Amino acid sequence: CSTNPELLNELALAQSPKFLVFACSDSRVSPSHVLHCTPGQAFLVRNIANMVPAYDQLRYTGTGATIEYAVEELGVENILIVGHSSCGGIKRLMSYPEDGSAPLVFIDDWMKTALPVKTKVIAEAGDTDFQEQCDRCARKAVNLSLANLLTYPFVQEAHSEKKLALRGAYYDFVNGRFELWEHGSDNIIIAP
Ligand SMILES: [Zn+2]
Repeated sequence: CSTNPELLNELALAQSPKFLVFACSDSRVSPSHVLHCTPGQAFLVRNIANMVPAYDQLRYTGTGATIEYAVEELGVENILIVGHSSCGGIKRLMSYPEDGSAPLVFIDDWMKTALPVKTKVIAEAGDTDFQEQCDRCARKAVNLSLANLLTYPFVQEAHSEKKLALRGAYYDFVNGRFELWEHGSDNIIIAP
């Protein structure tokens, strides 16, 4: 946390963050820590597996409200979705229902958003080990969420007017490796 009194006085009047960040609720991947954010820089959503469901006015209104506020009211210039290694939500998606466990009411419903990703991973890499499948799934789920962001009309509009960048990231917290890419690009930048 910042102890800069001038910054805090300024922030008491208003916030004008440049980033909306989606990160997992996982205790090991705190986005403020990973991205070295000071107060006022990032508007933040944390949920299981850093998912953005597609536009739906009846469900996921908490997510929709956050995106709407960040884009329409705060005018953020970037939306960043940060996936990560060893994600419990992704593991659950990739193992359910094969492990025979009872359904988890909320988690399994929430992770259904990424079912198309699971299907793709199994088709492309079903013969690799479970860990590898989960890693692939976590990255592809970020891309699905980036695509889902564009189902929000105000995101689509700001993005097409080049006022809003959409970026994906993957954080391997064991190796400290942070990968960053533009939506729709295969070009991955590795941050130190
Ligand atoms: Zn996670």
